Amino acid sequence: MNSRIWLEAGNRHYVETSDAAPREELAENGQHPRAIVLCCSDSRVIPEQIFSAGIGELFVIRVAGNVLDDHQLGSVEYAADHLGCWYILVLGHTGCGAVAAALEGSGEGFIRSITDVIRAAVGTERDPDRACRLNVEYAVERLKKEFYAHPEIGETVIEGAVCDIRSGAVRWL
Ligand SMILES: [Zn+2]
Repeated sequence: MNSRIWLEAGNRHYVETSDAAPREELAENGQHPRAIVLCCSDSRVIPEQIFSAGIGELFVIRVAGNVLDDHQLGSVEYAADHLGCWYILVLGHTGCGAVAAALEGSGEGFIRSITDVIRAAVGTERDPDRACRLNVEYAVERLKKEFYAHPEIGETVIEGAVCDIRSGAVRWL
């Protein structure tokens, strides 16, 4: 099955078998997510599944290596400021290809814009698991620096965690 047909079939299944009521309620009244999650694009790290969350419950920002730049910060700001979501979780994961790429070198093409951020975060660390944690902490510190300076944004809580892709367990740092 080619990818387009596979996606269309998946969407048909979703529309036909899922409960329409929550979708309609959220479309009518707007979203009020319970948490903002910045995580990797890795196909094995699915925040809605990891946290048993449904439609409207998580405001997810996914980018390879869960790095932060202006687009991610703008997305967080929108969810906090306009949707009233005050909990932000930066979620790294074991076996992250972006972290591995950054440990191997600076990468090429657009990937470099990601590995440069991770390399700055991990410094001289060469252990992938410790590098993953440093990369999460780097994003957490950046978020705190940007958002704790704006008390009007509210009582924002910013934390980091790592998901083990084998067990699915999330450990808060
Ligand atoms: Zn990753």
